[in-house]
Amino acid sequence: MAKKYQNFINGEWRDSSSHESFENRNPADWDNDLIGTFPSSNVDDVDDAVIAARAAFKKWRLIPAPRRGDVLKVVGDKMLKHKDEIAFEMTREMGKVIAETKGDVQEGIDTAYYAASEGRRLFGFNAPSEMPNKMNLSFRVPIGVGGFITPWNFPMAIPTWKLFPALVCGNTCVFKPAELTPKTATTLVKIIDEAMKEVLGKDYIPGVLNLVHGSGAIVGEAMTSHPEIDFISFTGSSEVGKRINTVAGGDLKRVSLELGGKNAQIVMDDADMELALDAVLWGAFGTTGQRCTATSRLILHKKIHDKFIDKLIKRVDKLKLGYGNNEGVDIGPCVSETQRENVNKYVNIGIEEDKATLVYGGDYAVKGDLSKGWFYKPTIFTNVTQYMRIAQEEIFGPVLSVLQCKDLDDAIAILNGTQYGLSSSIFTKNVNNAFKAVRDIEAGITYVNGATIGAEAHMPFGGVKATGNGHREGGWTVYDFYTEWKAVYIDYSGKLQRAQIDNY
Ligand code: NAP
Ligand code: MG
Repeated sequence: MAKKYQNFINGEWRDSSSHESFENRNPADWDNDLIGTFPSSNVDDVDDAVIAARAAFKKWRLIPAPRRGDVLKVVGDKMLKHKDEIAFEMTREMGKVIAETKGDVQEGIDTAYYAASEGRRLFGFNAPSEMPNKMNLSFRVPIGVGGFITPWNFPMAIPTWKLFPALVCGNTCVFKPAELTPKTATTLVKIIDEAMKEVLGKDYIPGVLNLVHGSGAIVGEAMTSHPEIDFISFTGSSEVGKRINTVAGGDLKRVSLELGGKNAQIVMDDADMELALDAVLWGAFGTTGQRCTATSRLILHKKIHDKFIDKLIKRVDKLKLGYGNNEGVDIGPCVSETQRENVNKYVNIGIEEDKATLVYGGDYAVKGDLSKGWFYKPTIFTNVTQYMRIAQEEIFGPVLSVLQCKDLDDAIAILNGTQYGLSSSIFTKNVNNAFKAVRDIEAGITYVNGATIGAEAHMPFGGVKATGNGHREGGWTVYDFYTEWKAVYIDYSGKLQRAQIDNY
């Protein structure tokens, strides 16, 4: 019998009052490998979680930040200790290869240690007063109860980017992971709760972190519109992000949105071709193309185009598809049948768009054991032009659209010509071109001689234009989202001093 998992509300593991559940299955072996069942929660469960988080906030905000940081230190230690087992189960749950799920856990570990040390920083500013015998200070203070809604493609890293800084800042949390990756979320919540108990002992506060499984349509919507949730941190599609922004923003909640991308890698005619090939293979087909920063467009200088495509096809042909926990596998399955159907839909759109040429893949991969999962062949289109749908819309699968450019300006114009602006990359040996690209590319992240994927946990992460609403995760920048500023004036003059009036 499949293992039955629960929600975590007010410090206890509980069933949903709906008594309904959903299944979690291995996308590489769908029929045979049932991982477990999870509660399909309802509005009442969200309410319970919010009430618990609200009550816990009164106490958690008063725990000194360095001690809150100590909890995150222990979280990082536990994740490190169990990294391999956690990664194995993540691959089983969402399909990407084990080297990548290990990286996903490592990003969580890095984020934990960063948050732990931030507990001893959380710097404020002070400034001189315009009056004598008066002191001006400013502090970061927690906001309150946060709602956290996350996707399945980085089932560990993305929740940690949000929950760890939010917690160290003194906020309490209601967390709804994607229905496709509830087990990784459960593991994370267990680890955080164990660390809370170890570090806080008798000061343990139930309800600081609550986990509510279930659908976006029910649980996500209930969180977004809940009057007792002060802010929402969301990563996912632009479509859902817009909806959340409308509902939560309408209620004056603070909202952080990390949304889609249509990232491109430029390769100039002077580039190191082998290096650029390694990068595009990793960027386009790593995580089966299901990364927000995936390379879904390749912009090749026309002088090297044919030679590059020749080499690329030879390299792609060597990539091995399979279950990501097996040795030697390069590409796992798409995460679900729906996701694979969506990929195939875009491939058909590409085929129908008159000038694009399908030069590799373009079909389900069904040979042998691959028939058991949602595998799709790595796919390459050439002769793609800027305004085709496969050059504009996020596909979120192993599909690469290749465009040609005549010079640097042309390349940058093509790169910038979409609604998104998350990641970008240029391969060139010309320093002037590299610096111009860094200046002129419209994206939150630009790599020079590197793939579009591979962000580091202590750097700002996020995008411009339709990729988000201006916030950044990662590094020091995320702490601006999870805190309010409080300005404090201390007057020790013994008289009423009127700013702007008495001194001018
Ligand atoms: P999604 O469909 O937008 O779902 C993301 C999360 O939102 C899931 O937990 C989902 O729940 C929930 N949700 C769905 N409808 C909702 C609603 N009406 N109200 C509140 N929550 C709702 O995205 P996805 O398919 O999981 O992930 C792929 C997308 O995420 C891509 O567009 C990708 O670019 C983006 N992404 C962006 C970044 C970044 O940092 N910029 C990083 C990773 C991924 P259920 O699915 O359980 O129903
Ligand atoms: Mg979805």
